[in-house]
Amino acid sequence: MTDRRTQLAENLAQVEERIASACIAAGRKREEVTLIVVTKTYPASDVRILHELGVRHVAENRDQDAAPKAAACADLSLTWHFVGQLQTNKVRSVASYADVVQSVDRAKLVTALSAAAVRDGRELGCLIQVALDAESGERGARGGVAPDGIDELAAAVEAAPGLRLDGLMTVAPLAGPYAGRQRAAFDRLMEFSSRLRGNHPAANMVSAGMSADLEEAIAAGATHVRVGTAVLGVRPRLR
Ligand SMILES: *Cc1c(COP(=O)(O)O)cnc(C)c1O
Repeated sequence: MTDRRTQLAENLAQVEERIASACIAAGRKREEVTLIVVTKTYPASDVRILHELGVRHVAENRDQDAAPKAAACADLSLTWHFVGQLQTNKVRSVASYADVVQSVDRAKLVTALSAAAVRDGRELGCLIQVALDAESGERGARGGVAPDGIDELAAAVEAAPGLRLDGLMTVAPLAGPYAGRQRAAFDRLMEFSSRLRGNHPAANMVSAGMSADLEEAIAAGATHVRVGTAVLGVRPRLR
């Protein structure tokens, strides 16, 4: 049995190789893609090892797990991304440790995040989560605003004190017209990103791609990939 550090180092090296190959295949520079390691369900000790191994971006999807973990790792220079569906009653906690909230999908959340950021004297990066399979006016099964709601939400973030509009995020849909068509889904997100950058040039982050589909995301033009399982192993419980 190998120890945890060796295991994580090996997994990280494999993911790094996949990212590097995908960049070469897409004619992109390696520096154009940032790896975010999704540490959900794994302990703070793993975050610490990952930091030693050079990881600087981590993501969590549940405040109950993330808040104590971020506190336990407060001495490390890490950028914390929040990527889960977020209820307004958790916003105050999340805003105290998160640097970027990738799951902004409704106006109420913008108002709450803004109030929390102002209260803490912090600036919070925000990504609009897009549900590519959601109908107009609805939200996706796993969160996200329907594509025709992006502009309004982006304007709200831009106007909100304490918030910074960073770009777009998506999770490839499991159902609907994009099911099993990750590349098409990520290409669509890139179209929305181009349009968004027309009005908000600084909002150039495109967060897409996970363990199973990071190559498709990099081919499409993603700037950030969110990788959990391929680095940390299969999670004990599905969340
Ligand atoms: C868990 C999660 C990931 C990572 O998924 P893996 O398949 O484990 O790489 C990425 N994005 C979000 C929003 C997640 O919840």
